[in-house]
Amino acid sequence: MSDIIPTPPVPRVPVRGGGTFPVRRIFCVGRNFADHAREMGAAAPASKAERGVPVFFHKPADAIVTGDANVPYPPGTNDLHHEIELVAALGVDAPAGELSREAAEALVLAYGVGLDLTRRDLQGAAKAKGLPWDTGKGFDHSAPISELVAAADVGTLDARTLTLRVNGDVRQHGALHDLIWDVPDILHELSKLYALKAGDLVFMGTPAGVAALVPGDAFVASLDGVVELHGRITG
Ligand code: MN
Repeated sequence: MSDIIPTPPVPRVPVRGGGTFPVRRIFCVGRNFADHAREMGAAAPASKAERGVPVFFHKPADAIVTGDANVPYPPGTNDLHHEIELVAALGVDAPAGELSREAAEALVLAYGVGLDLTRRDLQGAAKAKGLPWDTGKGFDHSAPISELVAAADVGTLDARTLTLRVNGDVRQHGALHDLIWDVPDILHELSKLYALKAGDLVFMGTPAGVAALVPGDAFVASLDGVVELHGRITG
């Protein structure tokens, strides 16, 4: 049996030092920094013991934008928001089941920095009605991402910060040691719900300072000292 349409291309992220990372799925984490949870009107847990379970959602694999490319302003919104996030790239499969922290950490092949672009007006309307966030989150070009850097070259994440500049002004700045759920925590929680596979990306959630992007805006997202993502919103 042959395919009745041309095979859709596999989305790929460039890797520093050579090669590409083919993307299978994009998992995203909501409300993973207390200051951002509060700015969105949600309760922030007072301690790790009270953090409950993480909020997960997805973007389609072909939502990625690579190569410091232009990002077209999406249809259907008047309030496109930026959310700078650490992105973990998995290089090993793990069947569904509770992963230990050690096993979870061993799944991560590389890290990058990305934007979880959000049609905030559509997300807000969905939230108000208790409906899914898909149209607010999982749209074309909604996941610009930097090149990936080998985990061994990134070092201790706890010492790293995220900074987003738009037209030269700092919009978001946060420290990864403030993540409510760190990378092993999130992979442990995801593995209770899904088989994880090489090719999966995990967008780890954003610190406070989310705000609007408009056509013409130039952004620089930085995982400090490690990697940067440059881009521009086009009309
Ligand atoms: Mn986000």
